[in-house]
Amino acid sequence: MNNYRELLKDKKKIVVKIGSSSITHEETGNINYKKLDKLVRILCDLKNRGKDVVLVSSGAIAVGRQAVGMKERTSVLAEKQACAAIGQCRLMMTYQKFFSEYNQIAAQVLLTKYTMMHDDSFINASNTFEELFKLGAIPVVNENDTVATYEIAYGDNDKLSALVSAMVGADLLILLSDIDGLFTDDPNINPEAEFIEIVDKIDDKYRDMAKDSNSKVGTGGMAAKLAAATIATDAGVDMVIANSRDIDVISRITDGENVGTLFLAHKVDGYNIQDYLE
Ligand code: GLU
Repeated sequence: MNNYRELLKDKKKIVVKIGSSSITHEETGNINYKKLDKLVRILCDLKNRGKDVVLVSSGAIAVGRQAVGMKERTSVLAEKQACAAIGQCRLMMTYQKFFSEYNQIAAQVLLTKYTMMHDDSFINASNTFEELFKLGAIPVVNENDTVATYEIAYGDNDKLSALVSAMVGADLLILLSDIDGLFTDDPNINPEAEFIEIVDKIDDKYRDMAKDSNSKVGTGGMAAKLAAATIATDAGVDMVIANSRDIDVISRITDGENVGTLFLAHKVDGYNIQDYLE
C-alpha cells in the first residue's frame, strides 16, 4: 500500500482540481486570497521540481455573482453565464497576479463538451496543451460557461478535470474537496462511517457509498467524484481525493504521504474519451 503512495512522488504530469467552495470564503463568498496564493505557490513548486502542471479551477460563477452583488445562487442560465463572464476574468486576473509573482506563466483554457465530442476540436485542444507544456506554461482550465448550455455542459468540474487528465495524458489527478476522501457512508450523518485509503477498482459497492455531499457553492458531490475517478483511472491516471482545508495536502500527496483516498489507475484497452461524455 505504502509503495503505491511512494510512486506518487515520481508523477510527471499532474492535474489539480479545486472547487468554488475551496477558493472562496464561506461567510461572504469573496475570493480567499491566502488560499489561492498558497495553491499557486505549491503548483509553482511542483513546476520547479520539473513536473508539468494543470490547474482546473471552478469559481467563475461564484466570483461573478459576488462581483455584481447577487446574494443568492440563480437557476437562470443566462444570469449564470453572465456571472461566469464577469467572474472568470476576475478569477484569472487573480491567478495571473500570483503566478507572475512566482515567475510562472499562466494560460487560460476554456473548454466545453463539444471540444471533447468532435475530433477536430479535441485534437486542437490537445495540441494546444502540448504546446503550452513545451513553453513551460501552467494551463488554468475551466468550463467555457458563457457558451455552454445544459446540453453541452460538463455539469461539474470534477468530470471536466478527469477528461482533461485523460486528454493531456496526465499520470496523477488530485481532486480537492471539502471532504477527506471516500467514506463507507456520509461521515456528516453517520459517525460509524469508515475512511477508505485506497480503491483498487471502482465497482457498485463504492458507488453506493458515494452519497451526495451538501456543498452550497460548487456542483459536484461524491457521486460526481466517483464518476471522475472512473474516467481518470480507466485512462490510466491515478487519482486522489483529498480535503482542501489545508492546501498543503497537495505537497503531502506528491511527497508520497498517505493522505486522501487513492484510486489506482488501470488503463482500459482502446480507451475512447468520447465513451465517457454521456
Ligand atoms: N464552471 C463553474 C464555475 O467556474 C463551476 C462548475 C463546478 O462547480 O464544478 O463557476
